[in-house]
Amino acid sequence: MVLVDEEYNCAGCGCCESLCPASAIKMKENEKGFLYPVINEKYCTNCGICKKNCPNIMHINEENNELKIYAMKNFDESIRESSSSGGFFYNYAKLVLDLGGTVYGAAFNFFNEVEHIRITELDDLKKLQGSKYVQSKINNSYIDVKKDLESDRFVLFSGTPCQVEGLKFFLNKKKTSMEKLYTCDIICHGVPSPKIFNDYLSELEKQYDSKVKCINFRHKENDYTQNIKITFENGETYLSNYFKDDKFYKLFLDNVILRDSCYECKYANFNRVGDISLGDFWGIEKSIHNFDDKKGVSLVLVNTQKGKDVFKKLKDDFDYIETNKENCIQDNLVHPQSKGSDYESFWKEYLNN
Ligand SMILES: Cc1cc2nc3c(=O)[nH]c(=O)nc-3n(C[C@H](O)[C@H](O)[C@H](O)COP(=O)(O)OP(=O)(O)OC[C@H]3O[C@@H](n4cnc5c(N)ncnc54)[C@H](O)[C@@H]3O)c2cc1C
Repeated sequence: MVLVDEEYNCAGCGCCESLCPASAIKMKENEKGFLYPVINEKYCTNCGICKKNCPNIMHINEENNELKIYAMKNFDESIRESSSSGGFFYNYAKLVLDLGGTVYGAAFNFFNEVEHIRITELDDLKKLQGSKYVQSKINNSYIDVKKDLESDRFVLFSGTPCQVEGLKFFLNKKKTSMEKLYTCDIICHGVPSPKIFNDYLSELEKQYDSKVKCINFRHKENDYTQNIKITFENGETYLSNYFKDDKFYKLFLDNVILRDSCYECKYANFNRVGDISLGDFWGIEKSIHNFDDKKGVSLVLVNTQKGKDVFKKLKDDFDYIETNKENCIQDNLVHPQSKGSDYESFWKEYLNN
């Protein structure tokens, strides 16, 4: 039995699976390649914990009056180069690791799938750096965060807003203290299908007659920060960007392959769920003059007192300017993306062939 009536009602955060006291819920892939909760009726006791603690059902959009907004560039050029925008995340994560804490974020696994992992060493931070434009699997992260917090460790959890709220609902239900929990949500366009990404990689592997070794969605080259660079085991590379018609980027940004819930996203506004929200400061050249150098600028939303404490500790590592909502406005801070005009025809064709 599926838990959700309509697919757009589930963001796939996995809170229900982690909470189910009977372990009756498993996240299973649907035909478009996204994970959805499926109940094994043999084990289900009808306790209702899953629905009562579902962020997608219970989310409250609370006005944030504390919000501070900054444009930030890391002074360390090598960090900025290996990050998607201005490299704020790296320093945030390092701050927590230096306190003996653990950091959770999205990484590629051995099979080039994107999943959340836990790191404790600075050497592993590069695995979490950079945007991976595919929905990441949460696996056991919420349960592991709980264990870390119960061991009195600092934790930074980063992810899409739906994942950050999934974690908070989970910890809240488990009555786990969140005093040492720091969160970071990304300003999110929506998450593309892992299955389509896998097909895209398979096609490139055939074309290059070699296995994919390394993927970078945000390779910075030619004054452009949104190049996809894929390196193959035979030493060859594929480099393209949206404007050069990379097939995957195009389907992503044309809103054809996002998860159904992304088109109804509850978090596409300034009322954020993380202590800090990170994005690309798109359009900065029009709103703040002489700051953009085409190497990436982080849009940093500081949402809570914890966020303010973090900002205060990190600000001297950055060239930054305080700004306002009008200057940094982008679609994903106003409304969810609408389905692309090719959405229906693409999926019909894909699923029939
Ligand atoms: C799917 C997706 C859509 C995005 N859409 C927008 C957008 O429309 N507008 C905008 O301003 N910014 C968007 N971003 C955010 C932006 O691309 C950068 O991630 C952000 O600016 C942080 O950059 P950074 O330089 O500080 O650090 P980076 O090192 O680039 O940040 C890496 C962080 O992103 C997290 N991350 C990477 N991939 C995923 C994933 N698949 N799921 C969850 N977390 C992930 C990592 O865990 C880490 O916390 C999006 C990111 C993703 C992953």
